[in-house]
Amino acid sequence: MSVKTSPRMSPRAAPRINLSITLEDLGARQITEMEYAAYGKEEFSPEVHKKLMQRMFHSLDPLGHDTISVGHLDTLLGRMGDDVSDEMRKELGLKMFPPGATSCTFEKFYAAWGEITLSKGAAKKFALVSGNFTSPYQQQQLLTRVTGEKYTTDYRVSYYFKNLETDEEKQVSPWHDVPLYLKDIVRTESVNRADNRYNFVCEIPKWTRAKFEIATKEAYNPIKQDIKNGLPRFYKHGDMLFNYGAFPQTWESPDHTWPGLSAYGDNDPMDAIEIGMRQLELGSVTQVKVLGVLGMIDAGEMDWKVIVISITDPAARFLEDICDVYTHLPGLLEALREWLRTYKICQDGKPNEFAFQGEYKDSAFAKKVIYESHLMWCNLNKIKGTTSLS
Ligand code: MG
Ligand code: MG
Repeated sequence: MSVKTSPRMSPRAAPRINLSITLEDLGARQITEMEYAAYGKEEFSPEVHKKLMQRMFHSLDPLGHDTISVGHLDTLLGRMGDDVSDEMRKELGLKMFPPGATSCTFEKFYAAWGEITLSKGAAKKFALVSGNFTSPYQQQQLLTRVTGEKYTTDYRVSYYFKNLETDEEKQVSPWHDVPLYLKDIVRTESVNRADNRYNFVCEIPKWTRAKFEIATKEAYNPIKQDIKNGLPRFYKHGDMLFNYGAFPQTWESPDHTWPGLSAYGDNDPMDAIEIGMRQLELGSVTQVKVLGVLGMIDAGEMDWKVIVISITDPAARFLEDICDVYTHLPGLLEALREWLRTYKICQDGKPNEFAFQGEYKDSAFAKKVIYESHLMWCNLNKIKGTTSLS
């Protein structure tokens, strides 16, 4: 089945930065900012560009002298991206540090970089310095608080971290602050049991149909009900078959497309579907293992649905990969795909399409997709400078 980008949908779906990055590439090198830019190209003005360059430059100037020394040149260029040739490096070095000069101001560097890249026609690739986003997360410190009445536009589930020593609470984001990967804090066994453990934020408990989601545009990203024309949204097609939610610290960039696929990311955290026996609570954070992934295409946008199971579910010990779901829970994956294909039809929507002829990909593939969207989130964070825990 070929995959089409619907012209009807978002204006952001128009091809912009068509990537030819393979999964192998992702692991091998640092992704540059332009590739996963959080800015749409139209927003990426010379002013924004200059500001980002300035931030990168000044990261090498901690004392705020507005200069860097010649010893910083290689580090600086290393952060510009991977297409600075030796020749450009030499030329830039001479412009920034003519004989006798040991330091260079930002304006001098920026002018020199502009001249060099203009004359060489180089792609303006660069990578920013990390915002050093770190989070001392412990599951037992995470609290949720509900405000507003359920099924109204005011309803919110907000997240807090509690300092267990001082009882102090601090609001946090389920998207940015809850970690994607779990680590063994105390390793008592030789096998790293945390290898396939991820955090999953439940937005829509199974057997319910109110469309709750992480509010990506609100501060601290509480969960709220999706609103359309002033009204909270419900799935008319029927109740959700499984616990539906998202992975924290992931983002499907609308500037990114996959090799062989033409659909761009849907600009949201990555979706996951928990197929365990229990109904999870709205807003709960559950440790899950990843079993596989379905490449859904929703009105031309890539919308991966990762299949997961809670690690404490009674069925979890039988399920390590997608093939085990076919073996032990026959019919489940087919019913899920059919639900996802058809749920918009009753609201005058079109059936959803799927990449790879609707084939579920295995756990290894799914982990790569998640890792990639985690990298995109990392870059989103660096660019937008979103709030972080101190
Ligand atoms: Mg979602
Ligand atoms: Mg989505």
